[in-house]
Amino acid sequence: KIIGPGGPSDDDRKRDAALRPKLLREVIGQKKVAERLQIAVDASRKLKEPLGHILFDGPPGLGKTTFATVLPNELSTTIQMTSGPALSKPADMLPFLTNLEEGSILFIDEIHRMPRVVEEFIYPAMEDFRIDIVLGEGVNARTISMTLKRFTLIGATTRGGMLSGPMRDRFKMREHLDYYTIGELAQIVGINAKKLNTPVSDGACNEIARRSRGTPRVANSLLHWARIYSAARSDGTISEPLAHEALDVKEVDADGLDKNDRRYLEVLIDVFSGGPTGVEAIGATMNISTDTLTDEIEPYLLREQFLVRSPRGRMATPKAFALLQKPFPKPRPD
Ligand code: ADP
Repeated sequence: KIIGPGGPSDDDRKRDAALRPKLLREVIGQKKVAERLQIAVDASRKLKEPLGHILFDGPPGLGKTTFATVLPNELSTTIQMTSGPALSKPADMLPFLTNLEEGSILFIDEIHRMPRVVEEFIYPAMEDFRIDIVLGEGVNARTISMTLKRFTLIGATTRGGMLSGPMRDRFKMREHLDYYTIGELAQIVGINAKKLNTPVSDGACNEIARRSRGTPRVANSLLHWARIYSAARSDGTISEPLAHEALDVKEVDADGLDKNDRRYLEVLIDVFSGGPTGVEAIGATMNISTDTLTDEIEPYLLREQFLVRSPRGRMATPKAFALLQKPFPKPRPD
């Protein structure tokens, strides 16, 4: 069985919903994306036109749902939320489409997992705010056209490249979310600790941020753990030494890598002598799909320069060898 790291757990989901910023100006980082969205929001208000359809792509936990959920607050409108895997046939879209209000938002998470028939069914909805419904079967079949309220579709995907060209083209804005800096994550930890009524020192915010793999969702989950740890073992406040201790007990890597990141590097270095090797070979050894490797694991390793992609395949960098305390091999004379 091919497995991936999987989506957020139910606990993560609950925590995410409670800690999500409500307005664009409360969103930390992703400055350029936030600025372009603010412009689109201002224009939509002034022109009294619905916001154009927006696609967010990027690895899990970086704020795609967060951006999607602040927009209805900015526009004083409503949002309906669903996801690609829940939409197996065109009829599954009908309750959402008929519940639309003028200018409201329909959010489809994991939109790359929507079947092609559903995708084609919503093209006219996205373009002309209309859908064609086929009634009856065979010779008696007839198509009726139904006009919809003008709405905004927001799609989120970890797999920008897997979306069909026609689908991608129908989004007016396409925004890519990238990993956060430690400073930005520390800011998010500080704000969220306040929301949880937990006193936290600046040093502790930094310590948690450093170990969060550039990802706000991970930062939330580590903050949650440090809070629980302090309540159980200390006075409920999070100091830097306490954060250290709590994260060590949880066995969170001090380099900010998670289990799969580390295993990827171990396989690349121990099994493939550091590469170059194909991503398929790494995936087969790890028993993880290549999609998961390329969309969720590699982007962070590339950004942190543990990995390079060359025409001949993936290669571990000297930094990766140093992390695993292995000597960096001399380049082969080829
Ligand atoms: P995605 O949809 O990309 O998987 P989410 O939007 O669910 O990620 O983000 C997970 C959590 O991380 C949110 O609930 C929020 O608490 C936090 N978060 C994400 N992005 C930001 C941000 N830019 N500023 C503040 N908090 C953020």
